[in-house]
Amino acid sequence: MAEKLDTYNKKRRFDKTDEPRGDKASPSDSNLRFVVQHHIASRDHYDLRLEWDGVLKSWAVPKGPSFNSGDKRLAVNVEDHPLEYRTFEGTIPEGEYGGGTVMIWDEGRWEPLEDPEEAFSHGSFKFELYGQRLKGRWVLVHMRPKEGEKDKNWLLIKERDKYAGSANIADYTTSVVSGRTMEEIAAGKQPKKKK
Ligand code: MN
Repeated sequence: MAEKLDTYNKKRRFDKTDEPRGDKASPSDSNLRFVVQHHIASRDHYDLRLEWDGVLKSWAVPKGPSFNSGDKRLAVNVEDHPLEYRTFEGTIPEGEYGGGTVMIWDEGRWEPLEDPEEAFSHGSFKFELYGQRLKGRWVLVHMRPKEGEKDKNWLLIKERDKYAGSANIADYTTSVVSGRTMEEIAAGKQPKKKK
């Protein structure tokens, strides 16, 4: 289990960053959690992380999730993150891996709508989010890599349900846990509401 976090640990210098060390993959209980972190680093993107099998399965979504079921958003599969990363909000020093500002943009419970292991290998994975902002059914669709391309590209798509088209990500510019804007997190301002 611990090797799952090797890549995560190798990319980071824990004497420089406040991000959690990936000591171990933690057992999951029946309530699987997810987080979407808005991350302004060398590029602005949103990280979707789904708790599965003791780690956070992670995808970097350059444009962020779309509430519109007509949109297909590139979601680049990245290294598994430790479960503790779910509560990380703050700054990663410039020059370090992912250097920039991280906001907890959404969080909550999630449920697979099909067996995740099978779905991961089939390349199409349906799930339901019970977040504060992202709700309802979603699907991640694996894209076959072109010759010479790394096999890491997926598409994140909102499924048609009553939550489709209900909002825009740009409607939400604050943290769901601290109420802070990106600027306030970057400036180290104290949280506005209790975690
Ligand atoms: Mn990121």
